[in-house]
Amino acid sequence: MLCRGVAIVISSILCVGAASAEVSTLAPTPPVPLPKPRPMKDRIRKLPAPSAKQLFKAVRVGADLKPASLGFYTRGCLAGAKQLETDGPSWQAMRLSRNRHWGHPQTVATIKRLATEAKMHDGWPGLLVGDISMPRGGPMWPSHASHQIGLDADIWLTPMPNTRMTRRKRERLSATFMLTSNHLSVNRKVWTDAHGRLIKRAASYRAVQRVLVHPSIKRELCRTAGLDRAWLAKVRPVGGHNYHFHIRLRCPTGSTGCRPQTKPRRGDGCGAELDRWHKRLVARLKPSPKPRKKPIRRKPHRYLMMNDLPRACRKVLVARDRIVPPPPRQATRVSAPKIRAPAN
Ligand SMILES: [Zn+2]
Repeated sequence: MLCRGVAIVISSILCVGAASAEVSTLAPTPPVPLPKPRPMKDRIRKLPAPSAKQLFKAVRVGADLKPASLGFYTRGCLAGAKQLETDGPSWQAMRLSRNRHWGHPQTVATIKRLATEAKMHDGWPGLLVGDISMPRGGPMWPSHASHQIGLDADIWLTPMPNTRMTRRKRERLSATFMLTSNHLSVNRKVWTDAHGRLIKRAASYRAVQRVLVHPSIKRELCRTAGLDRAWLAKVRPVGGHNYHFHIRLRCPTGSTGCRPQTKPRRGDGCGAELDRWHKRLVARLKPSPKPRKKPIRRKPHRYLMMNDLPRACRKVLVARDRIVPPPPRQATRVSAPKIRAPAN
C-alpha cells in the first residue's frame, strides 16, 4: 500500500516536471498593450455630477435670504421661501412627506386668501393644497416641469373634509378624477358649481397670472360663465390637471431675478383653441388603423444641472437655514395642584 502511494507521488512530480518543461519550450507571448490612461482633467469631467434636482431635494429647510424668485418657472430656484402651515382654518396641506409646501411669501399669502374667501363666499369648504415648491425651489422632474421658483401651486379639486386628517391619510387619500371616462366633459356626479366659483376666484386675483385646468374643465367654465368672461383669459387649457388645478403667480413687483412669462392672450379662449383641444381628445378615442411597428423613440430627458440655473441659485443652495419660528403655543390646561391632607 505504502509502495503504491509513493509511486503515485513520484509519477505526479514527474508529470508536473514534464508540463513545466513543455511550457518553458513555448515562445514568450507579447504583453497585451494597455489603453493609455486618460488625462486626469478628462476623467474628472466624465464623473457623473449630481443633478440640480438631487442637490435641491437634499435641502430640507428654506434659505435665510431675502425672498426672491430667481430664474424662470421651469428653470430657477427660490430664496427666502416661506412654508405654508400644515393646517389652517380653511386649508390642509397634503402629501407632507414630500416637503413641497414652500413658496414665495406672496404665493403662500395668496393660497391663504383663496382658502378664506372661497370658504366665505363660494360655498367651498376649504383647500387641499398639493405641491408648491421645495424649500429652495429648483427642479422636481418628473413630477413637475415648473414649480421651481415658488410661484406655482397645485390645489386639489377635492373639497376639504370637515375633519383634520392624519399625516397618514394625507399621504393615502386619492384626489377626485373630475372627468368622464372619455375625458370629453366633466363628470357631473363630482363636478359642482362651487368648483367653477373657486377657479373663477383664483383667476380674479391680480397676483395670479395663469390658472391651468384640463381642456374639458375649461370647456365647462366657458359654458357656464355667463356675461362676465374676462377672467377666463387667465384659465389656460393644459393636459392633465383633471384632479387638481394649478395657479401661477406673476413675478412679484420689484423682483429683479425673476423672468416673467408672457401675458395670456386676450379674449376668453373659449373658441378655436378649445375646439382644437377637443378634436385632439376625440382623435385619441379612435382606434388607430394600423398598430405602430416601431415604438416612438423619445429623447431621453436631460436633467437640469446647476449650470442650467441662474448663478444666484448656488448661493441659495448653500445659504444658512431659515429659522422657522415655532408654532404658537396652545393654552394648556393647568390642573389644580394636589393638596395633601395634613398628617395628624
Ligand atoms: Zn402644478
